[in-house]
Amino acid sequence: MAETTKKGGISVQTEHIFPVIKKWLYSEKDIFLREIVSNAADAVTKLRRLSSLGQYEDNGETYRIDVILDKEAGTLTVTDNGIGMTEEEVDRYICQIALSGALDFIQKYEGENQSSGIIGHFGLGFYSAFMVSESVELQTKSYTGAPAVHWVCSDAGDYEISAGERQEHGTTVIMHISDEEKEYLDANKLKDILEKYCSFMPVEIYFADAGEKPEKKEKEKEPPKPVNDTTPLWLKSPSDCTADEYKEFYRKVFHDFREPLFWIHINADYPLNFRGILFFPKLTNEYESIEGQVKLYYNQVFVADNIKEVIPEYLLMLKGVLDCPELPLNVSRSYLQNNTYVSKVAAHIVKKVADKLNSLCNTEREEYEKVWADIRTFVEYACMRDRKFYDRVQDSLLLELTDGKFLTVKDYLEAAKEKHENKVYYTSDKAAQAQYIAMFEAEGIQVAVFEKPLDTQFLSYLESYDSNVKYLRIDADVAGALKGEENSKEDEALKKLFVKVSGNEKLKVAFASLKDAGVPLLLTVSEESRRMEEMMKMYSMSGMGAMGAFPAEETLTVNTASPLIAKLSAMEKEKQEKTAAYLYRLALLSQRKLSGEELKQFLAEGYAILDLI
Ligand code: ADP
Repeated sequence: MAETTKKGGISVQTEHIFPVIKKWLYSEKDIFLREIVSNAADAVTKLRRLSSLGQYEDNGETYRIDVILDKEAGTLTVTDNGIGMTEEEVDRYICQIALSGALDFIQKYEGENQSSGIIGHFGLGFYSAFMVSESVELQTKSYTGAPAVHWVCSDAGDYEISAGERQEHGTTVIMHISDEEKEYLDANKLKDILEKYCSFMPVEIYFADAGEKPEKKEKEKEPPKPVNDTTPLWLKSPSDCTADEYKEFYRKVFHDFREPLFWIHINADYPLNFRGILFFPKLTNEYESIEGQVKLYYNQVFVADNIKEVIPEYLLMLKGVLDCPELPLNVSRSYLQNNTYVSKVAAHIVKKVADKLNSLCNTEREEYEKVWADIRTFVEYACMRDRKFYDRVQDSLLLELTDGKFLTVKDYLEAAKEKHENKVYYTSDKAAQAQYIAMFEAEGIQVAVFEKPLDTQFLSYLESYDSNVKYLRIDADVAGALKGEENSKEDEALKKLFVKVSGNEKLKVAFASLKDAGVPLLLTVSEESRRMEEMMKMYSMSGMGAMGAFPAEETLTVNTASPLIAKLSAMEKEKQEKTAAYLYRLALLSQRKLSGEELKQFLAEGYAILDLI
């Protein structure tokens, strides 16, 4: 036992440090509890290790950590039955080392502003208790049997060491919560913090509210449950985990009651040495924000959400947990950005995600097709953000066809080889382009569906990645696709007639004999000029100034197999013009929505035709 009471002051530096700790960590005050509880967990882990090394005789004791709120006394206490400290250790680890560690830390990062983010704050550890306390007490007794020690320190940095009261090995940290921080004397708040940061710590943690009414306690017949799960699923070997366990884990951690689509359990050995489980969440609809949540842990201690240095930003729509014990956590973001270990972890995650998609595509095709609609936007986005990701998954990108079937791009091209080479025909609107789809289907040409807002951009990426394959909207290259018979001679008179009634001098008129004789005219717009026009529209919509109209290049294909066209040629002039104008308008209508003015004309032309009957 320490015979005399030792007093000390932690010099000028402490006066400097305490206000800094308080101010600086302001935005993340909650972490003080994580720091104190994880110290307690470390103390238990150390004792367990000594016991397994035969250096400590463990009498079958149950290790635990208790977090006790005493609102009346204004204290929050964290007790463990771990390794404990001798007086010398208190002096060395609490009074000196920790402090100089903190000083180093502050000197190193003082220049960086807070938002650039010091994540983790490990290293300040024990002293973060002063963010919320006016004084902190330690009652500790070393496992070696050395006398118990009592240490108390005010928020001005003056401490006192005296003989302690603890009978059993372990440490009790009593935080006297300061008046401004009374919110930390609220049981619910504390439970939330424990859930966030301590849910997976390796030692059982029990929370107790000393002020809770006894009647309530009596009612609870069941023995108290720890607030944490000491052996989280990610630590298990994937082959030992069942689907139900993954789903249960997902529900508990993310409070999402929809089942995840599938998951990836990563177990990376040396030198990366990290573990984790990533879930593909089910989205209700495409407009739902696809912000996911990837939680980063350091040896089962929660550090932060969504750290995009560790997981690529485009994978952040996933939900999951990553435990990286190799990551130095008391570092700034700029450190993470230039860290080769971090980029290797990120690359490994990308590879695992791609591997999973490929294996689903190759071995669980039916399952894969079922979830494709849900993951498609994500996969497309990821491909656009990262060429390497595209390279890995390109053979597993599915085309959804108008008949509801799925084909990989490769299989689509293979199947279409006879009819057209290296072209993928697609529709951007199944309803509006129904006429064209029917014609393609009649020819036995499969049409892919690209209806999502992101799709046009995605197609441009696909073409830039593989310039051999062209993506053509079905109303862009009908004549080319449906070929028709090449017999059709150009009819100069009809050509002039259609240019005239269309009012568009640049209109190209082509002739083909198409299979479907019921369609007299087809209007097509070249893929490039249509994409250009769409882009312009987007720019002017986003307020980037009027870019002027960029008229799309239109081609009118006259179907010489159509009896109506034959009739038209034989008509007298007035009737011919009116009929041609009406036919042209019908072709326009099946190609796109008419403008107000065009619709008015269309109706007028219709009435005029009826007048002729
Ligand atoms: P860190 O945990 O990063 O080393 P801290 O400031 O949190 O820094 O703690 C300093 C040291 O004090 C620890 O390394 C440990 O040796 C000792 N310590 C803190 N809390 C406990 C505890 N509950 N039991 C035993 N030792 C402790």
